[in-house]
Amino acid sequence: MIEPVAAFDRIGEENAFAVLARATVLAGEGRDIINLGIGQPDFKTPAHIVEAAIKALRDGHHGYTPAAGLLETREAVCRRTSTMTGMEVSPENIMIMPGGKPTMYAAIRMLGEAGVDILYPDPGFPIYRSMIEHVGARPVPVPMREENGFAFSAEETLSLITPQTRLLILNSPANPTGGVTPKAEIDKLVAGLAAHPHVAIMSDEIYDVMTYDGERHTSLLSYPEIRDRLIVLNGWSKTWAMTGWRMGWSIWPDSLISYVRKLAVNCWSCVNAPSQLAGIAAIDGPQDAVADMLTAFDRRRTLVTDLLNGLPGVSCVLPKGAFYAFPNISKTGWKAKPLASALLEQAGVALIGGPDFGVLGEGYIRVSCANSDDNIEKAVIRIGEFLKDAK
Ligand code: PLP
Repeated sequence: MIEPVAAFDRIGEENAFAVLARATVLAGEGRDIINLGIGQPDFKTPAHIVEAAIKALRDGHHGYTPAAGLLETREAVCRRTSTMTGMEVSPENIMIMPGGKPTMYAAIRMLGEAGVDILYPDPGFPIYRSMIEHVGARPVPVPMREENGFAFSAEETLSLITPQTRLLILNSPANPTGGVTPKAEIDKLVAGLAAHPHVAIMSDEIYDVMTYDGERHTSLLSYPEIRDRLIVLNGWSKTWAMTGWRMGWSIWPDSLISYVRKLAVNCWSCVNAPSQLAGIAAIDGPQDAVADMLTAFDRRRTLVTDLLNGLPGVSCVLPKGAFYAFPNISKTGWKAKPLASALLEQAGVALIGGPDFGVLGEGYIRVSCANSDDNIEKAVIRIGEFLKDAK
């Protein structure tokens, strides 16, 4: 039997995909499944974006594009970055990537190897840890604590940096918790990083537009003093409901951009032109569909939090960003993974156990608000009944 090298024993998964697959099988068997497991907006890509892709195909945009992405698409990203952050970036520093994830791989592959520590949020997006282990670096979890609103603590983060630390991964607004790190905390973190010039930062800002209650996202781009060691990950998947298009972008320091271009040439050559032209339409076109989606997510996060807080043994912090709630279920008497599995199999509610996002995820489940208000309400009723009956 042919087996892969050891690095592939150290590659993880994103359990959300396995849950989605199981939910689809159960639904195919005729079961009534409500899916609150999914990390993709339940909205269609706005029509003008789809039209731009169709036009691009009709106009003959069928060939390779530059590895870094079309200049026009990179310029659109610069305009969007300037509008969102007030900061100017050059198209020379932008990479158009096949989704947000390839930037994680590129950054972690470029900076990680045996003997290197990489700091990442826990609970956090599972691919960070998976990729860190894959490249042989040591994953060092930065705790995202409920009592701290699931935000980064500058003090705790800085205390984990050692001479071996090569990369710090930040994510705000955060998956799976909906936590948003306040600007004052990021100010402190960046000030502290001055003492650690050997540490690069990858800031995953894919949920940048999804903040509520007047809470504003603070981009790490706002700090010119770290620009020469900052990688920013962003993309079209969440903001414009384009998860399946595989369209992301990242902003790289001068010292790394040529390497990520080479990685692209070696691995995927480029992102297809119709998607890139659609990506320009997304950035420059009307944003009312985005606003409508945000209004729905805002309403649903309050709805789901209120409903969950009504269940015995469950307590849920109101998420400040993204579109997930991360209720604490530790007082229900259940462990998170068995509960998530039983809820899917017995109650027909798909969601993700907190441990799929890290060791500190035990005691929590992730509930996605990417479903209708009615379905969210029905799902929480089912969870409540399940918890009562399973006593
Ligand atoms: N970063 C975070 C925090 C995410 O939650 C996700 C998707 O769930 C991604 C990145 C990946 O986005 P993409 O689907 O564009 O690869």
